[in-house]
Amino acid sequence: MRSAASDAPSPETILAGIMFAFAAALRPDPELSVSEWADQYRVLSRVSAGEPGRWRTARTPFLREIMECLSPASAYTRVVFMKPAQIGGSEVLLNMLGYIIHLAPGPTMLVEPTVELAKRFSRQRIAPLIENTAALAERVSDPRERDSGNTILAKEFPGGVLVATGANSSVGLRSMPARYLLMDEVDAYPASASTGAAGTEEGDPVDLAIRRTATFANRQIAMVSTPTIAETSRIEQAYLESDQRKYYVPCPHCGMFQVLRWAQVKWPDRKPAEAWYECEAALCHGRIADHHKQQMLERGRWRAEAPGDGDTAGFWLNGLYSPWTTWGALAKDFLRARKSPERMQTFTNTVLAETFQQAGAAKTDAGELLARREAYRPDRILPPGVVLITVGGDLQADRVELEIVGWGRDEESWSLAYVVLPGDPAQRELWDMLDQALSLTFDHPCGREMKIAAACVDSGFHQSIVQQFCNQRAHRRVYPIKGAAGQRPIWPRMHSKAKDNRPLWIVGVDAAKEALYARLKITEPGPGFCHFPISDQYDLGYFEQLTAETCRVRYTKGFAHREWTKKPGARNEALDARCYAYAALQSLIAGGFRLSRQAQQIEELLAAKDGDTGVQQPRPQQPAANREREPWITPRRDWFDR
Ligand SMILES: [Zn+2]
Repeated sequence: MRSAASDAPSPETILAGIMFAFAAALRPDPELSVSEWADQYRVLSRVSAGEPGRWRTARTPFLREIMECLSPASAYTRVVFMKPAQIGGSEVLLNMLGYIIHLAPGPTMLVEPTVELAKRFSRQRIAPLIENTAALAERVSDPRERDSGNTILAKEFPGGVLVATGANSSVGLRSMPARYLLMDEVDAYPASASTGAAGTEEGDPVDLAIRRTATFANRQIAMVSTPTIAETSRIEQAYLESDQRKYYVPCPHCGMFQVLRWAQVKWPDRKPAEAWYECEAALCHGRIADHHKQQMLERGRWRAEAPGDGDTAGFWLNGLYSPWTTWGALAKDFLRARKSPERMQTFTNTVLAETFQQAGAAKTDAGELLARREAYRPDRILPPGVVLITVGGDLQADRVELEIVGWGRDEESWSLAYVVLPGDPAQRELWDMLDQALSLTFDHPCGREMKIAAACVDSGFHQSIVQQFCNQRAHRRVYPIKGAAGQRPIWPRMHSKAKDNRPLWIVGVDAAKEALYARLKITEPGPGFCHFPISDQYDLGYFEQLTAETCRVRYTKGFAHREWTKKPGARNEALDARCYAYAALQSLIAGGFRLSRQAQQIEELLAAKDGDTGVQQPRPQQPAANREREPWITPRRDWFDR
């Protein structure tokens, strides 16, 4: 007898179609839960898994209940898991996939942030899942077979099909109705799916995907993600709609059940490697060591903390629960992250599993900054932490506004002076005053005189005059700049050329503002902290200008981007000047300068000086006559004096 003609559908495909339609009727959902299935059947490959061999839910006991809620017997249609990186979120999805293919087949859609990531996930995670688990390998054909129904983005199995796609592809998201919808890393999804070449907006990819499940009464939706930014986080939004479960673990000393929180991780001064977890019970405060963790996890239980919508089971936990890390490793991560807001965002998202409040979103209050000014007098002597001085200048129609800023280790900063030079930019006088301001020197307690190392002057409305002024002072690192919004580095890799072929530097002001606003929120002196002196220049008006702008999230062509705006009529020269002074620092760093190296040299000078005299000598004050010789301060003679 002849076999079926080669152009006819294979018996397998026909069978798959029939099973597809009647899957629910033919195969009642079994009693086994997803976690029980994984313990019984799943084998982790030697290639892709950190701990190869049989899957053991006991290793990460907090995943059990999540997988139970994803089982067909569960009453929940949506399961939300807001998680740190590397805790087993993808494993939950893979176990569910295995369960679907083996025991509860149906049309299944897996959505990754992009089609590329979906392909990678399929090759690196789904293929080994199937190959290493016998019950799955016998249900999905080998991709090397002809007409196997097994490609990278689509895998047929008896009674169903798995389609993997990207949240950026509306075609993929619309490809088929799905009973099971598995959405991975939803916070990395674009704001809108697009059709590709045309770039037409298609709406929220999560909504698009969920609409494909509408016809299935027994649908099941999983959303898993590490959170990102507070205003736009989808996973946090979904978690807030859920019953908000948190994982409580018992203290090994007193037995009190508690949620692991970062504030309870403690370590001796400068010895993060020796960190421990401190029980939060007032009568205990016992030290919990790393070796206690596994047992605590096994005895842990999820507790819902909100009524929720009845359909959504929500789970949140942070990296403190990870069986693969120690308190000490986390403390070291934290100390590294603390040095910059960018690293702090990564730590907040991937370790604490919390959304990050973007700079400007919760505004720093001008009054608070005014209240925390400090008594230092840079006109007499610099604060010892200053190791470098830069200037930012903002040119207006009738004046130049300047800020002189001192920088220390880890970009801790000291505002030294804010100067307004009135005058007509078309007249020489204004530029003479500016030149003298840029020639100022300061006395440092180490005994050296400190000059201004670099300056940025905004070319604003008078580009060619500013360029001429700056080019004559290029050897003093006085740069003509132009601020530009949008995603660009604070200091450009190359300068642009203006019409007359003179160099002009395009400064990324959004990144500068973001860095500054994050730093204004730091309340303890140290990395990134901004010091302001008690002086008339730094009055409430100054701080109102400094905090004049807010950052909002806007959507254009389906992509979220941040936009800085100020209230109409509000002034912001102080903010601009500060950002340009920061850009001047970045110009030096881009050229290989290191604040830490400079700080070390100055610390050595300070130590040697202390050694000479035994006590630190107060430096004699400069005679007032010296200051009188500086005509440029006449407009604001009081700029250093209260
Ligand atoms: Zn305790």
